[in-house]
Formats: sequence, structure tokens, C-alpha cells
Amino acid sequence: MYYIDPHIHMVSRTTDDYETLAKMGCVGVSEPAFWAGYDRGSAAGFRDYFEQLTAFEPKRAGWFGIQHYTWLCINAKEAENVVLARDVIAMIPQFLDRPGVLGIGEIGLNKNTRNEAIVFLEHIDLAMKTNEQILIHTPHLEDKYQGTRMILDMLTADSRIDRSRVLVDHVEEHTIRPVLEGGFWAGMTLYPVSKCTPQRAADMVEIYGPERLLVNSAGDWGPSKPTAVADFILEMRKRGHPEGLIRRVVYDNPLEFFGQSRNFAFAAPDV
Ligand SMILES: [Zn+2]
Repeated sequence: MYYIDPHIHMVSRTTDDYETLAKMGCVGVSEPAFWAGYDRGSAAGFRDYFEQLTAFEPKRAGWFGIQHYTWLCINAKEAENVVLARDVIAMIPQFLDRPGVLGIGEIGLNKNTRNEAIVFLEHIDLAMKTNEQILIHTPHLEDKYQGTRMILDMLTADSRIDRSRVLVDHVEEHTIRPVLEGGFWAGMTLYPVSKCTPQRAADMVEIYGPERLLVNSAGDWGPSKPTAVADFILEMRKRGHPEGLIRRVVYDNPLEFFGQSRNFAFAAPDV
């Protein structure tokens, strides 16, 4: 089955990973800007990163027939530095018309601090002024529930936001309901050590149905599994779910969500 991984950090992965993904049926990836594992010292560091995301990664993915898309921002962790964040936000519009740039992301909260919230709102304002879609990172573990509530409160307070153009990612059992009921898209991240397993993601599809639901690997430089979406497909098959339902979650839904972006020019593979 062809699938799209809507959240994966390929800059942290090898070319061999692209080859493995292609062999498993992956035909598209979307790569949000994220924390590199160290704090960048200047906006110029982000400029170089955005160059990599918009120029080299699409080329590397293309070697294996994978279409690469990306999202730009300063991540929540480095957003604690508001001065740096404002420099980066001011630079982002220079990249928004490049092919494959789907919007602003992954913005959000990390430790739910005041500075993170300030920078989150300034990203939202940029997205509204430039008519961009938004991809949102929700915090980890003990900070997740409160952080998700704060994020949803900030989003619903802004009447300019079209909720069908916002993806709230890394949802779990205790956060998925308000995201879907709010009219947003929800992403489930399949991680080996935290967030969500393929089994738990399949449970949530069974409970909530496939509408506005995405699954991703969020493969990155830490413990993660870039082929996790294929594990989800297998889990759904083991449970006897029809191929049409599985394809909706792993292929049709990403196409529907990304298709709202002006820079999403996906060439569907022949089937
Ligand atoms: Zn991420």
C-alpha cells in the first residue's frame, strides 16, 4: 500500500532510510522544522536549515521516488529566546513561496512557558497574514495535557483561524477528543518509547473513526522508527480492517489536509 508519512525529520536520517521507506510503500513525507538537539546561535543558523529543508532534502527524497514537503518555524524549545525567535519569524516569509513549503510548523509548546506562548502567537499571526496552514507540536508526557489545553485555548481565541487547516500533532488518548471535537486535524505519533504505539493508534481509529486523523513516525535523531507507519498498516490489517479504511488514514487523509496548501503539488503514483 502506498502511504505518506506526514511528520518525519529526514535531515536526521540516512539516505538508506529513504530507500527503506520507499521499499515499504512510502511515496511522500512532510518534514516540520524542529529542534536539532542543540540550540542554534543565530537566525543565520535557521536560514541554513531552511535551505536544507527546501533545497537538498527534496532532492535526496526524490532519488527514491519520495515527494518531500516541509514546514518552517522556530521550534518551541528555542522559542524560549524571544529575540532570536522574532528574527527567525521575520525571515520565514522569504521561504514561503518555495516549492513544497506547506506552512508554519511545528510550532507549539515545550514546557508551557510564557515566552513559548508569546512566540506561538506570533507564528499564528504570521500564518494568518500569509494564509499558511499550521502544524502544531504538543508537549511531552507530564506537560501534554495542560499544554494541549493552552494551545487549543489560544487557537480558538483567534477568529481568523480556519480549523480545518490546522494539524495538532502528538495526540494521545487524553488529548485527542478536544482536538477532533474542536474541528482540528489530529496526528498520532508512533514512537517506540513514548507518545503512541501502532496498537494504541489503531485503538483510537476504532474509537473515533478515520476523519481528520493522521499517523506519523516523527522519526528524528532520537530513539524513533522511521518505518512506524508501515507497522500501523500491518496492525490494522491484523485486526481485519478493510484496505480502504487503512488507506484513508495513511494516504487519503494526508492528501486532503496537505492539498489545502498552495505549494502542495503531489503527483500520485500509478495504481
Ligand atoms: Zn517533530
